[in-house]
Amino acid sequence: MARIALITGGMGGLGEAICIKMAALGYQVVTTHSPGNTKSGEWLDSMREQGFNFHAYACDVADYDSAQACIGEIEGAMGPVDVLVNNAGITRDMTFKKMDKVNWDAVIKTNLDSVFNMTKPVCDGMVDRGWGRIINISSVNGQKGAFGQTNYSAAKAGMHGFTKALALEIARKGVTVNTISPGYIGTKMVTSIPKEVLDTKIIPQIPMGRLGKPEEVAGLVAYLASDEAAFLTGANIAINGGQHMY
Ligand code: NDP
Repeated sequence: MARIALITGGMGGLGEAICIKMAALGYQVVTTHSPGNTKSGEWLDSMREQGFNFHAYACDVADYDSAQACIGEIEGAMGPVDVLVNNAGITRDMTFKKMDKVNWDAVIKTNLDSVFNMTKPVCDGMVDRGWGRIINISSVNGQKGAFGQTNYSAAKAGMHGFTKALALEIARKGVTVNTISPGYIGTKMVTSIPKEVLDTKIIPQIPMGRLGKPEEVAGLVAYLASDEAAFLTGANIAINGGQHMY
């Protein structure tokens, strides 16, 4: 039986590449999309045309009840989740002076609470079966901080605190928990930054002189999900073209 990989936010730039990579490796791929996403059918059709038979479920990852219900539906229809990739995320950038409670809460709930909401209903099952992989997609900006991102940097740093604590608790159970911290990757989240800012402020900070590719992050997810990565847990793996070394 193929292992089941659930990738949250799989219709986004990084998520799509992760879904494709995991499917190519033989996983049964399930993704979630926001309840308000009207393009999910279109996306599934276009993936099917490319040979990928993905399953998609509506879920507000920021909402505990929505996440519980979604996992219940997925497991009822397909079976237990073996690999969970907490990838869904948003930015709401502004300086701290302008940061209001609405934009603080939105980012913390979507990027950090979501990790609890989605991991909670799958973790015990992984432990009981003696095998599982939880992979949290954080950010270089959670490691180094970023101007205008007190909300995002806090949420992304928090994700790795979660990774380390849970990794300790279940280290002997065959379930690994790791964080990936990508630098700037060429998805809409980044390419929607004005070109002038990209060219003059962002790319010059990257020693490799280019944005990362979603496929490069997907390759790392695939490795962490594999049996070969069984001894790797509680790590925060940077994939940032040399932008931040620590
Ligand atoms: P996208 O904006 O392309 O994708 C984000 C995905 O998150 C979307 O598919 C969206 O789903 C989903 N999402 C957002 N809010 C919710 C919600 N409340 N409930 C369910 N799903 C939700 O971003 P990327 O692919 O670029 O980013 C993916 C992850 O990687 C994010 O966590 C991001 O912070 C992180 N990252 C990205 C970097 C980059 O350079 N691109 C760098 C470092 C980290 P829908 O479309 O259905 O709303």
